[in-house]
Amino acid sequence: MSQEMARGMEVRTDFEQQLERFFDLLEQSITTGDPAWMDPILLDWAKSSTETDLEDEPYQISFLINRMIALTIQVARETLTKQQALDLLAAVIPIYTYGLEVVARYEMETRVAHISSEMEKVQKRMERVDKSKSAFISVAAHELKTPITLIEGYASMMDDLTQEGKATNLDGLLVGMNTGIERLRAIGDDMIDVSMIDNNLLQLNFQPMQVSQMVDALCLEIEATTNARKLTMDIRDFDGNKQWIYVDATRIMQALRNVINNAIKYTPDGGTITIDGRTLSGFIEVTVRDTGIGISHEDQSEIFEKFGQLGRVDLHSSGKTKFKGGGPGLGLPIARGILEAHGGSIWVESKGHDERTNPGSTFHILIPSRTESPDPRMTELFDTLGKGKDEEVVE
Ligand code: ADP
Repeated sequence: MSQEMARGMEVRTDFEQQLERFFDLLEQSITTGDPAWMDPILLDWAKSSTETDLEDEPYQISFLINRMIALTIQVARETLTKQQALDLLAAVIPIYTYGLEVVARYEMETRVAHISSEMEKVQKRMERVDKSKSAFISVAAHELKTPITLIEGYASMMDDLTQEGKATNLDGLLVGMNTGIERLRAIGDDMIDVSMIDNNLLQLNFQPMQVSQMVDALCLEIEATTNARKLTMDIRDFDGNKQWIYVDATRIMQALRNVINNAIKYTPDGGTITIDGRTLSGFIEVTVRDTGIGISHEDQSEIFEKFGQLGRVDLHSSGKTKFKGGGPGLGLPIARGILEAHGGSIWVESKGHDERTNPGSTFHILIPSRTESPDPRMTELFDTLGKGKDEEVVE
């Protein structure tokens, strides 16, 4: 029987022992006339099968017992007289039937419990999505409303001046209006980027670039702000800084920009932002360290999730580089999406959040140091250009 039944089923090493136990208990049940003797082994079997096979093969033990019934009948037919066979079957069939009932009930109960716990998880996830959706709507509405109010204000001033015939020089007002428009465009772009990242639609355009070039360009961009906020930019010359690697420079710069802008936003005036790095095997690691308010341990993974900081909707004040000026909470998820699309990653280290002691934060950005473009024609083109100009092209 053990040979027949082990076939086609997962053969457990102790299967024979288990069968022996089964038949011992079966004997006890027949002798005492109480099928409940079978309970321990039936429940053990049902439990081990439902725990491991819930997803693919439920009802294994019911199947096993059905096979046992068929085999018992076969053995009875082949080896016993008619009367013996009848006696045997009269004795064992009620116990097998009882066994089937117990196992089926247990398997069903376990399945129902499994489904309920799955449903509970889905419901919790939906509640979280729902919460972040409504928080997103309120932040997005606020983020959009601020520049719209700005634009409205300038438009109405222009209107007044034009009415009064004093519209000789509207340059200042136009600049203000443009700031509002730029802000709106940036929010729109961020939203599009997030949805592209979510749907794996981010297309990368690989070109050779040096980390130092990207950092220098970004420092130029933020110079006016860092001067105004009296922040020191400490740009280190690290190993790998000048290595030519294939990246989508616009996207990597966007990721770096988001991290550096946050460093500016969350560091009080007079602080320092240090950009350093090193080479690791297959990667260049860039670190952006600030002397700002820091990030609590709970928030350190949350902030890379979309709208991760939405818990504090009330804090939103819409400022790109203003101290603690909130944003739509998309900067870090976008940075992570860009780096992951490149095969890199991003994480943060911080001793915690404290606005008095300013423990600071360090963002680690891992950029794969690809020495070839995914498109071989691109590598060929730049190799020839590089060699033609006798530039340092790292192999
Ligand atoms: P946003 O800046 O639009 O709020 P981000 O995704 O860029 O969204 O950042 C998410 C959150 O992470 C921020 O709201 C802030 O709470 C926290 N954070 C990010 N960078 C820093 C930093 N350098 N120091 C302290 N907190 C930070």
